[in-house]
Amino acid sequence: MKRIVVLGGGESGVGTAILAKKENFDVFLSDMGIIKDNYKILLEEYGIAYEEGQHTEDLILNADEVMKSPGISKKAALIQKIETKGISIVSEIEFASRYTDAKIIAITGSNGKTTTTSLMFHILKQAGLNVGLGGNIGKSFAKSVAEDNYDFYVLEISSFQLDDIKTNFKPHVAILLNITPDHLDQYNYQFDLYAKSKFRITENQDENDYFIYNLDDPKIMEMINQIDIRANLKPFTMMDATNEAYANNELFRVNDSNGDFTILVNELGLIGKHNVSNSLAAAVAAKIININNEDLKKSLSDFKSVEHRLEPVLTVGGIDFINDSKATNVNATYFALESMTKPVVWIVGGVDKGNDYNEVLSFVKKKVKAIVCLGKDNSKLIEFFSPYVDTIIETNNMEDCVTKAYKLAEKGEKVLLSPACASFDLFKSYEDRGDQFKENVRKL
Ligand code: ADP
Repeated sequence: MKRIVVLGGGESGVGTAILAKKENFDVFLSDMGIIKDNYKILLEEYGIAYEEGQHTEDLILNADEVMKSPGISKKAALIQKIETKGISIVSEIEFASRYTDAKIIAITGSNGKTTTTSLMFHILKQAGLNVGLGGNIGKSFAKSVAEDNYDFYVLEISSFQLDDIKTNFKPHVAILLNITPDHLDQYNYQFDLYAKSKFRITENQDENDYFIYNLDDPKIMEMINQIDIRANLKPFTMMDATNEAYANNELFRVNDSNGDFTILVNELGLIGKHNVSNSLAAAVAAKIININNEDLKKSLSDFKSVEHRLEPVLTVGGIDFINDSKATNVNATYFALESMTKPVVWIVGGVDKGNDYNEVLSFVKKKVKAIVCLGKDNSKLIEFFSPYVDTIIETNNMEDCVTKAYKLAEKGEKVLLSPACASFDLFKSYEDRGDQFKENVRKL
């Protein structure tokens, strides 16, 4: 019996352990931290041996194969030891791909993964396909492969998942949305290494597969010629009107031999220019899967938003409150501010990951009437923006923040939470930050 050791007892790790058990591996799961009770119950139900609060090397280094959860750093001492011993390390998506024949639509990028994955799933599901959703969203891909029987999967794929693929992860349709610097600490601070890891989404594709990519992204265009791609290339763009898949601020078109697909941009359910680009990528994929134009049009218009991503919360006293808590970097906030059409009270701050606020300055000058800083240390924000914005105030809890933002805004304006920073100075996660925002808006 082959022994697999699963490192990490979260959704991805537990899912892999269950699938491996079903496939008759000798499975051991090890987590340095505490495993959540619901996962422990599952492990026990399936009779899977596990440990928490430690990594017992003797029990790990005798594995034939190790599955590393995406959250574990490849620089961890244990990972180095595993590599030195020559034990193969795989990611969840690589492992699970061995055990399904379903067609995979895989989506990666620095921003927009969850939105585009959710939209894609919505399109296929509404068209009546037997489709599952996985990756970083909801149920893990591995657990779904163990328990369900889908014809298609739409998967959100991070660069960490791609780092440990071998030959089995082979999406029929791969989408690369954009590449901007993120997680560089895990890639020796080399942007090229991170970008290459994103391109691995197409590594095992062949001439029957499709690679959809953003023609407007400078990093993608810089790298694409350096990568050996066998799949059919399907670029999308908001800049080149001669391209097969093109959108501007008004019109949206994907050429198709069975009749071109068109929709007006203001008919799209998602707002913001970045979401036009996300929707375009999804539409190209939908046409490859042969979704008919009518179904596609309906799905693109009735898909509203994903929680915590430019999510309209409520209108109170004529003021719209928008929750974009998931904007944990400046690039995401850039697109949020770009999509604003009314004067904005902007809630920003948290743990700054080396932000360069020059990126958003032109929008701030044009659209932001007041800034409410939300964080333990707001000095960088205050210093940077005070020459340009008259009103900047500080808060260090959500209740105070929402009350103050409400007072600063007037009828017909917007309050936007788009922090451009990580949340863990004051909150458990970006979800917690967004939930607290919504809760306090409802109390107004
Ligand atoms: P991810 O899963 O890649 O983190 P999300 O869909 O969760 O992406 O969106 C994260 C943040 O990025 C949100 O604030 C969202 O408004 C913004 N965003 C979404 N799509 C894009 C895009 N194509 N380019 C830049 N920012 C985007």
